[in-house]
Amino acid sequence: MAGIKVKHQAAMVLDLNKCMGCQTCSIACKRLWTREEGMEYMWWNTVNTQPGLGTPKGWETMGGGFKNGIPQKGQLPSIDEFGSNWEFNFEEVYYSGKGQKTYLKPNPAAKWGMNWDEDEGAGEWPNSYFFYLPRICNHCTHPACLEACPRKAIYKREEDGIVLIDQSRCKGYRFCMEACPYKKIYFNEIKNVSQKCIFCYPRIEQGITTACSRQCPGRIRFVGYLDDEDGPIYKLVKKWQVAIPLHPEYGTEPNVYYVPPLSSSKLDADFKITNEPRIPLEYLESLFGKDVGKIIETLKAERQKKVDGGKSEILDTLIGYRWPKDFFKIPKGKGGVTSFQKGTL
Ligand code: SF4
Ligand code: SF4
Repeated sequence: MAGIKVKHQAAMVLDLNKCMGCQTCSIACKRLWTREEGMEYMWWNTVNTQPGLGTPKGWETMGGGFKNGIPQKGQLPSIDEFGSNWEFNFEEVYYSGKGQKTYLKPNPAAKWGMNWDEDEGAGEWPNSYFFYLPRICNHCTHPACLEACPRKAIYKREEDGIVLIDQSRCKGYRFCMEACPYKKIYFNEIKNVSQKCIFCYPRIEQGITTACSRQCPGRIRFVGYLDDEDGPIYKLVKKWQVAIPLHPEYGTEPNVYYVPPLSSSKLDADFKITNEPRIPLEYLESLFGKDVGKIIETLKAERQKKVDGGKSEILDTLIGYRWPKDFFKIPKGKGGVTSFQKGTL
């Protein structure tokens, strides 16, 4: 099966140069969508430190997706690899009368969590490095999850390309979890169904952007439609080509795009600044493919234009002077988007 054609494709661009790892996006999503029974351990939006093992632990080695269009065998992540919900010792701390003698800790002791390897990164001092990578379901054009579902419970909406799981059709087989190479589907053991990011479709239908993007204090996220030539998504992805998907080699054609992180420079033995970036290009290529080096050179050249007192439309777009107007361009329309309405959020 090839990629699925839709009328318009909702998409997101995340500028990794602005993400500060605050997890506001994760909490915004958690409060809105995953508060029901069986969803305690779910984080439809995750933010991990790179390099790192991420969520679920070691997800990049778990397989799935496509190679030359052929579905690849994937692993089913366990709840421990996601990191189960932590029970804290509230009773002991707040009601035992021991006061300062105790502190809040997970009970039983936690072994992994959504943000477990926060700020560890890689490299040796003084040239250690890391950056943050927020992830949601990519609402792929060629969704491996959809293709793997024998119940046809997963569908891609024609009006906006959002990928959803029909909860009444899902029987909890979890083939979708094995097939998704981004490991962005969770299993609800109480309801016996698979669940995942819904791109806040009830908000999108009202012309309102996703909770993760609206709450982001770093203002790193742009939301709109890939074919809206006046919008930031089209410009960053198609026109200037400075935003690219994560692991394009997984073959699912994601619709979440990243502006790759620029790197601070390495220091030499005398602590003098060199021209060598701390984040190895090979590492970025392993995440975003071979085009990433070219994009970084473009971003550096655009930044230099501004430093020299000149103009850069790319940088101005990435900075986004008018919040939220410059970041979100979402047409209003319930269950069927037919025309773009300028200036709606
Ligand atoms: S990221 Fe995974 S769950 Fe989301 S549409 Fe793509 S294959 Fe499906
Ligand atoms: S809210 Fe924004 S800045 Fe904070 S972690 Fe999420 S994407 Fe990064």
